[in-house]
Amino acid sequence: MSEATQEDGDATAAPVAAMALENTTCPVCECATDYTFRKNGFPIRKCCGCGYLHVAPRPPVATIINHYLTNYRGATADFYPKAASRRWRGFWRSLVFVPYIRGKKVLEIGCGGGFMVEAFGRFAREAVGVDLSENSIAYARKRWPQHRFFAEGLGAFASRGESFDFVFSSEVLEHVLDPHEFMDTLRRCVRPGGYAYVSAPDAGHKAVPRDISTWEDICPPEHLQWFSQHNMVLLFERYGFRLHHDYKSRTPAHSVLFQRLG
Ligand SMILES: [Zn+2]
Repeated sequence: MSEATQEDGDATAAPVAAMALENTTCPVCECATDYTFRKNGFPIRKCCGCGYLHVAPRPPVATIINHYLTNYRGATADFYPKAASRRWRGFWRSLVFVPYIRGKKVLEIGCGGGFMVEAFGRFAREAVGVDLSENSIAYARKRWPQHRFFAEGLGAFASRGESFDFVFSSEVLEHVLDPHEFMDTLRRCVRPGGYAYVSAPDAGHKAVPRDISTWEDICPPEHLQWFSQHNMVLLFERYGFRLHHDYKSRTPAHSVLFQRLG
């Protein structure tokens, strides 16, 4: 499909309208990708091999930062939106993972205010969180001083050389600019034989609209990539993980546990 045949007419397209639509290779399987449609002004390509959908070319980092600054009310060291319900939901969600976290060293990537870290910490030997948001980490450090939190990017954290028995990442993968940096971080942070849990929108789910461009989870620049189970497993296998458990969801969401091979 050529770009000229389908435009969404979004006025926000201006900052990215001039970006070249050069051919790109798929970061999952390295097959060629094809232009499919624009959403919110961002061109979205689909891999001809594995079906991986992604914004390409990637928007500038400044565009991403501006989006979050404009659309999200930030946390502070003393305030986090919906803190009570987040803590309650975090506790109940953590129970699913007790067999993997009891007595173990656990990391959450994209930990926000640290609610899951605190929940994991009830069972784990040690619970650690990392997030890009300095305000969120300031809140987490103040609220849960018994746990360690880091306000930094994935590469910087991975360079610390710590390894974990269980790494939890919920609704992060679809936001990251570089899936390889995300996967490299998992590879470096999960010990051989350890586990990585990931949740993200599921582009292959039966509940996704037939015209996928109308799916609410296609919302760049907030979301930048969308996986089916097939190409998510391909990506993880490329980095030495195998699918361990699929927590089935009635909504179009991945909820999957991978194990790093020894
Ligand atoms: Zn592919």
